[in-house]
Amino acid sequence: DSSREAPWLAGLNPPQREAVLTTEGPVLVLAGAGTGKTSALTARLANLIATRKAWPSQILAVTFTNKAAREMKERIARISGGAIEGMPWLGTFHSVAARMLRSHAELVGLQSNFTILDTDDQLRVLKQLISAVNLDEKRWPARQLATLIDRWKNRGWTPKEVDLGEAEAFGPGRGRELYAAYQDRLRTLNACDFGDLLLHMLTIFRTHPDVLESYRDRFRYILVDEYQDTNQSQYAWLKLLAEPRRNLCCVGDDDQSIYSWRGAEVANILRFEKDFPGAKVIRLEQNYRSTSHILAAADGLIANNAGRLGKTLWTDKGDGEKVKVVGIWDGPEEARRIGEDVEGMQRRGLSLDDVAILVRAQFQTREFEERFIAIGLPYQIIGGFRFYERAEIRDALAYLRLIHQPADDLAFERIVNQPKRGLGDKAIATIHAHARASQEPLLIAAAKLLDTDELQSRARSSLGRFVADIARWKQMANELPHAELARIMLDESGYTAMLQAERSAESAGRLENLAELTRAMEEYESLPAFLEHVSLVMDNDENRQGEKVTIMTIHAAKGLEFDIVYLPGWEEGIFPSQRALDEGGLASLEEERRLAYVAITRARKKATVMHAANRRIYGQWTSSLPSRFVGELPEAHIDQETTMSGGESLWRAQWSERADPFAHLGPAQGMRAATRGPGWQRASQGGRFNRDPQRVIEAKASAVSLGNQGRTDLEL
Ligand code: ATP
Ligand code: MG
Repeated sequence: DSSREAPWLAGLNPPQREAVLTTEGPVLVLAGAGTGKTSALTARLANLIATRKAWPSQILAVTFTNKAAREMKERIARISGGAIEGMPWLGTFHSVAARMLRSHAELVGLQSNFTILDTDDQLRVLKQLISAVNLDEKRWPARQLATLIDRWKNRGWTPKEVDLGEAEAFGPGRGRELYAAYQDRLRTLNACDFGDLLLHMLTIFRTHPDVLESYRDRFRYILVDEYQDTNQSQYAWLKLLAEPRRNLCCVGDDDQSIYSWRGAEVANILRFEKDFPGAKVIRLEQNYRSTSHILAAADGLIANNAGRLGKTLWTDKGDGEKVKVVGIWDGPEEARRIGEDVEGMQRRGLSLDDVAILVRAQFQTREFEERFIAIGLPYQIIGGFRFYERAEIRDALAYLRLIHQPADDLAFERIVNQPKRGLGDKAIATIHAHARASQEPLLIAAAKLLDTDELQSRARSSLGRFVADIARWKQMANELPHAELARIMLDESGYTAMLQAERSAESAGRLENLAELTRAMEEYESLPAFLEHVSLVMDNDENRQGEKVTIMTIHAAKGLEFDIVYLPGWEEGIFPSQRALDEGGLASLEEERRLAYVAITRARKKATVMHAANRRIYGQWTSSLPSRFVGELPEAHIDQETTMSGGESLWRAQWSERADPFAHLGPAQGMRAATRGPGWQRASQGGRFNRDPQRVIEAKASAVSLGNQGRTDLEL
């Protein structure tokens, strides 16, 4: 009798119900995108509470982001009419582990009020340790060590457990020793980093069985979302907690595993049945999110991956629209086209909240931000900063500002020791004192200070180089195109080298952002014109209510859904990323493909894939090849459109002729030749912004940055 059915079961299909009602014993829900895994997990939580299987505080539920945790809380409150007592332990791995660690900090030598270091603090500590053992920080950068230590922590390794081969990787052979020193240092600071939250709890569980016992006793039920992205240390932690009762329910999709670069192991899904014998494995096959062309296109794409469990998906939402594949001329046109599309939909009454633009890499957001500001279309960036607010962009801008305007003290302060030039607080304070006394800008005061003996000789010589560099670049500014100057400056200042030395995914992204910055500069006549543009775009980051288009990376979009999804930049070298192509392994390519699968399956009603024929790379127009993923979308489910004559049949041909890897070269060279003709000038001129100042200001008021949620699982 459905009229008397419990509200949290309403509308669930039979396998979802099974996932909710099989309360005892291990359960694994393994199912494709949009099949209602998260919905079933939420209903399960509500059911456990409502049927009094456990008090809320006896349930542990782990989500991938804090946003997901909030949503789950809201849904539970709704389902139960707000009538539940207490709250479950609900949050990310990190937030839950932090809460536990506060109660047992002393067992690992910390006090309960320990600080959780952010990346900057972490790097500062590591730098000190690296120089303390007399390693050259240029050759052995702190960030590289941070990445390694992170990796070890993700595997659940304390310094003792780091094997020698791994420790070789830094300084050579000093990795483990530095890791141990770092842990000691953190302890004296009464601090820990994100990786420690779980690692310390693992240590405590292993060395203090009574503590482990108390949590095992408490948590009657454990629930985990996005299980495919758990790493080894998270897995070990879960396993320890769940072992005796085995009331563990995990939901996930092997095809959506996209964090292996951060230590996630899709193998954890495969191990589940082995580690928890007798586990009930539930498959969900009905997709409730997308119309069938979208689903079939995503399915056809992911079928190209070899290592998958495989699954069937269907929908009764009707055929809907085919996935649109649009080939356009260049990046500015891509942004213009999406802007026009969205404005059109808005006129037809669609809400901007239902539209998302999902990018592969952070640098891609710039073109859209600029365009949307120009046409006054409100947008928000989720999971990261707006382009001109990113740290490396602000640094680069500070260099440019200082050249343009030597009295810009804020710019001076930002970069005088960035990259590190050995100018300590004392040297900086001396510069400040002089500037105050003589009422001169810092740069001038610094130059004068060089004639005195107030600075120690090391500080004096590096300050001397800095002042001379600025003077030289200022000279160059009269002779060189400003984008060129920016590139030279980033190189000569050591800024590029600093990022290159880090060799992390993050620093690669920063380098891409800087390349994008110099591309942006080329669109402006002069340095002052560019700086003026940036300050107009930047000076307002006030949160404004109202509808907004969402721009975010695909990584950050995991688990979310939107009616209308745009997927720009599907070109070789962007998506799949150059990094994945350079590594060349099948594994990295398959991870890119899973990312493409996640991207398409975010769409409810309409997905539009775009690829440009030309991109400007380091100041050069180069022709780009459409992503292999475009060619892998089954033809029956896509609708091709190109704004360039004859272009599209040619693109498809390129990928159907993959037997001959150079088949594309002929036509691609043709395109490159075309970029030099008058045609591209027209195209690129069309890409310039037709700015109406009033609209710029309005758009600024509505452009919202939601802070750095890029490290979603690291939030607290
Ligand atoms: P992802 O793999 O992207 O994380 P998921 O499997 O977690 O997706 P959900 O986000 O739970 O899927 O659900 C997708 C959509 O389908 C949501 O809009 C949800 O409300 C809806 N949905 C889930 N189950 C049902 C159902 N039984 N009947 C109708 N709609 C449902
Ligand atoms: Mg989900």
